[in-house]
Amino acid sequence: MKIKMILPALVEAKSPYWRPIKYSLFPPLGLATLAAYCSPDDEIDLQDEHVEELRTEDSPELVIIQVYITNAYRAYALADHYRKKGSYVCLGGLHVTSLPEEALPHADSIFTGPGEDIFPQFLRDYRNKTPRRVYVNTQRDLTNIPPVRRDLVKHSHYLVPNSIVVSRGCPHHCDFCYKDAFFRDGKPFYTQRVDDALSEINRLPGKHLYFLDDHLLGNQRFAENLFDGMKGMNRLFQGASTVEAVLRGNLVEKAAEAGLRSVFIGFETLSNQNLLQGNKKQNLGKDYAAAIQRLHSLGIMINGSFVFGLDEDDKDVFSRTVDWAVGQGLTTATFHILTPYPGTRLFDSMEKQGRILHRNWDRYDTRQVVYQTKGLTADELKRGYDRAYRDFYSWSNIAKASWQHKEIRQQLKHFAYAGGWKKFEPLWNFMIKTKGLNRMLPLLESILSTVNKEQKVGTSPLFPAIA
Ligand code: SF4
Repeated sequence: MKIKMILPALVEAKSPYWRPIKYSLFPPLGLATLAAYCSPDDEIDLQDEHVEELRTEDSPELVIIQVYITNAYRAYALADHYRKKGSYVCLGGLHVTSLPEEALPHADSIFTGPGEDIFPQFLRDYRNKTPRRVYVNTQRDLTNIPPVRRDLVKHSHYLVPNSIVVSRGCPHHCDFCYKDAFFRDGKPFYTQRVDDALSEINRLPGKHLYFLDDHLLGNQRFAENLFDGMKGMNRLFQGASTVEAVLRGNLVEKAAEAGLRSVFIGFETLSNQNLLQGNKKQNLGKDYAAAIQRLHSLGIMINGSFVFGLDEDDKDVFSRTVDWAVGQGLTTATFHILTPYPGTRLFDSMEKQGRILHRNWDRYDTRQVVYQTKGLTADELKRGYDRAYRDFYSWSNIAKASWQHKEIRQQLKHFAYAGGWKKFEPLWNFMIKTKGLNRMLPLLESILSTVNKEQKVGTSPLFPAIA
């Protein structure tokens, strides 16, 4: 059977302001995971519209499309196109799970929740000519999942082909996060067996790995065993955690020993009131500076994530946050405008308050204001958000943040990583155009491999922890 799997481009990936490199980092792992359940006789064409021109003149028997909020309209148009041609079309993903009734008219079948468990069931039903309209994942089991079909991925199109996910979900329940909406019909957080995860890692070539798990350190026992198993594998890896997990026990030391070199942390806000509004309880009263110091002392770089537009935010929140992040020596920062995604508690509460301005999902990209703000006007919020990016990534602030490290090698590593990521767009674009992005991987690995630990990290009394 001819099967086509499509990740349509997010609308922001086609905007004149987009950074192509941001959308050329990771291959579509979710679709490659589902592909593993197909028969070896099936002919699978996996296309990621972020990195290649989509071919739509073909006529596959089965089409599987992954739907996020800002590619939803594109996904529906593609689904309609292929259904007209007689293909059987399935839609799944975050947005379909949030709004199944919106997706259903465009599909023959839809999947809600994670695709494992239900996709093999769908394939059996389809081959028996009894497919259902709706498949809801309630089982949540990662044992015995077949190896991801990485052979379908066009490796040279991506900077980080070795992305990997060894768990699903997260133990926390932030109101603005999609997680609870996506996992609502079953367990919200579960992991692979450690041995399976280690086998998957062993199958990946080279040194560098990027764990795309929402919270790699979320399950203490699993993470400990995973990091113990990875010791001596000579890997370098990046992943995501919370402040709380970094401060807990000695897990982060084990992660560093196993090769953790940079971590994504959701600080979100420096205001306790805002944390309460977002139900980010795990950050409440936590000493951000202590977590940062601990990570830096282990030679781990930090990508801090922040959200602007929570109700306590005022006009100064942008400069306050950027100054704090620079003063703490964060290597990179990701800023977002608060976005109430449908299906989340934040959306429900804003809708009850009459604060949702429209349902044009194309604009729910965390770069635009789609709700009625409180402490700031929409214009102030948008301009402040743009300014925060500009200021954080000015050369002077990149240098200033680098100097927060005591060790010269750490300073250089920080400077090279932050500058390389944000200031060499023409080079990234050239590598993307020439389909040679994966040739940059050795450079990334050499920057990440600098490990000498810092004795002490510069912290400033101007930037105390929020606790
Ligand atoms: S900690 Fe992160 S992944 Fe977990 S619920 Fe909160 S925002 Fe979502």
